[in-house]
Amino acid sequence: MYRIKHIIPILGLLLLGWGCNQETDVKVIPYPQSITEEEGYFPIKENTPLYTNLQGEEKSRMAAYLQSLPAPFNGELQEETGAEGGITLKITPTAQEGGDESYALNINPKGVVIEAGTSAGLFYGLQTLLQWIEPAGQTTGTVRAATIQDAPRFAYRGFMMDVSRHFRSKEFVLKQIDALARYKINRLHLHLTDAAGWRIEIKQYPRLTELGAWRPAERWKDWWQGEGKRQYCEAGTPGAYGGYYTQEDIREIVAYAAERHITVIPEIEMPGHSEEVLAAYPTLACSGKPYTSGEFCIGNEETFTFLENVLTEVMALFPSEYIHIGGDEANRRVWESCPKCRARMEQEGMKETSELQSYLIHRIEGFLNAHGRQLLGWDEIIEGGLAPNATVMSWRGEEGGIKAVRAGQKTVMTPGAYCYLDTYQDAPLTQPEAMGGYLPLEKVYSYDPVPQELTAEESRLVYGIQGNLWAEYIPGDEQYEYMMYPRILAIAETGWSQPERKDYPGFHARALQAVEWLQANGYHPFDLKNEAGRRPEALTPVAHKALGKPVVYNAPYNATYAAQGEKTLTDGLRGDWTYSDGAWQGFISSQRMDVVVDLEEVADIHSIEADFIQVTGPEVYLPCEVVISASEDGKAYTELARYTQDVDRNQPVCFKTYGWQGDAKARYIRYEARSGQQYGGWVFTDEIIVK
Ligand SMILES: [Zn+2]
Repeated sequence: MYRIKHIIPILGLLLLGWGCNQETDVKVIPYPQSITEEEGYFPIKENTPLYTNLQGEEKSRMAAYLQSLPAPFNGELQEETGAEGGITLKITPTAQEGGDESYALNINPKGVVIEAGTSAGLFYGLQTLLQWIEPAGQTTGTVRAATIQDAPRFAYRGFMMDVSRHFRSKEFVLKQIDALARYKINRLHLHLTDAAGWRIEIKQYPRLTELGAWRPAERWKDWWQGEGKRQYCEAGTPGAYGGYYTQEDIREIVAYAAERHITVIPEIEMPGHSEEVLAAYPTLACSGKPYTSGEFCIGNEETFTFLENVLTEVMALFPSEYIHIGGDEANRRVWESCPKCRARMEQEGMKETSELQSYLIHRIEGFLNAHGRQLLGWDEIIEGGLAPNATVMSWRGEEGGIKAVRAGQKTVMTPGAYCYLDTYQDAPLTQPEAMGGYLPLEKVYSYDPVPQELTAEESRLVYGIQGNLWAEYIPGDEQYEYMMYPRILAIAETGWSQPERKDYPGFHARALQAVEWLQANGYHPFDLKNEAGRRPEALTPVAHKALGKPVVYNAPYNATYAAQGEKTLTDGLRGDWTYSDGAWQGFISSQRMDVVVDLEEVADIHSIEADFIQVTGPEVYLPCEVVISASEDGKAYTELARYTQDVDRNQPVCFKTYGWQGDAKARYIRYEARSGQQYGGWVFTDEIIVK
């Protein structure tokens, strides 16, 4: 008895230690590289002095930032003399060995010293200190003694804010910069232009903001789908919705971000996504008329004059090394029938319109490079030949990034499946309408920006990671924050922390606390503690009579949404909250699903059922008609159940089971489901369950 009593607690401790590589009471996001906790603590009081050896502009920039914090951080920033009893921010040239953003934070009962080779390192050491103070979220209290050595994994840790689909005020942008900086994000990519509105004052082209920044409908969805759709209106028209940043606003945003070590990267879309430009300046469209396309005419020299003039004003406002030129989703068909574009193709010896796109990207890259800037674009910029110095933002999976890296060019990883924060973060039925998909915090966190197939040499060109928050379905500011937090924190930690320091249970506990901090500081994050989580059906495989049995497809499944191919509907695996998870199989050919499950012998059956998913955005609908029938010989079928219904298009996301219950003998089970002919669209199911 004596022995057993003592063994049990020791085993318990061991078990607690396993599977968790993080100290449980460390609440810092992103998790630092190394923490050595020591004896004692240092008290931070309202009058604790601050010292620094920063000089000149760097000192005034740090002082300006500190003014935005509560006491004692907003106190006078005194000259460092080696005095104890305070918080010292110290530039030490040797500390730069860990990289530009590295720092060492030492806390002992005599004081706090942050050492770094750069002011960025000091800034990040300060962010860690602010999260180290107890009680959490306060700026006075105690800090436990420790030595923390820290440096980021990636140089580029970004967030993209879409201010085109719904305009956000300057104040809103500044507020988000505060939170992004706290979590060591260092790039803010502003999606400033798109069909839904042009958001930056350009002095030489006033029509961009007199007309291109305003539309008659507030909600993007109404504007995109409604009557008189996709039109613009003059500024000042009653009911006009929109807005833009003046050049003065931009200077303020850029300076505010710089104080917080965030570089603001502007995105000016070309050659597609430019309906608003062509409404304001129709001569730049192939047709010469407004509302005819979203693509610039690449055969027209005026297009280049316009783009270079715009970029000249943009470069004067944004000191960023990178200028993002979009480059995505151009509809190249408009160029095929344009005499100017055809003449350009002939003159340049081009065969494909993709080369026209590439011609524009190369030319714009030359212009940016000549002004000391680098081109950043979505991964379509690879098509038709990658511009020689461009950095590729890989959004359609990782392929674009891998291609860029193998061509010796840098990439920022931002694949939709992990980094698109406009998707549902929890069970869709509990959430405001979103773009679709299902991307919970855990999945964002699980992403590693270095694809496994890259060599160590190639992986050095993976410049970093970015979370993107498109705003088509996000009219309000509070909803924007709700979609952004806490998922952007998972991006922040993935960008900063080494993979071996990542641990989801530990991160989840820290994210819960971060959500409290965000709430207490006026943000509107998704309340992580109420997360409903994955679709219950998807958690455990289902056993049933058709498990592993062959399925004959009378109508083919779609190759893109094949899931697990012919095994999908009898593999026991149910789908999650999104149809693209590899468990749901999609049918669009002849707008129907029509399959026969062969039980391989006649059996007594009592129920047949299958679930369907509806996501109206991408035209995935519940079936309008379902027919379930059964046969002993595969020739003569008896109809067991039939449902017909009108699909409710007002339900953005829903799930429904269509089944039969009774007593029958059958070997073959035929399941047919038709999408509504009047709507077209997809049907998706995950499993035909026979019991
Ligand atoms: Zn043209």
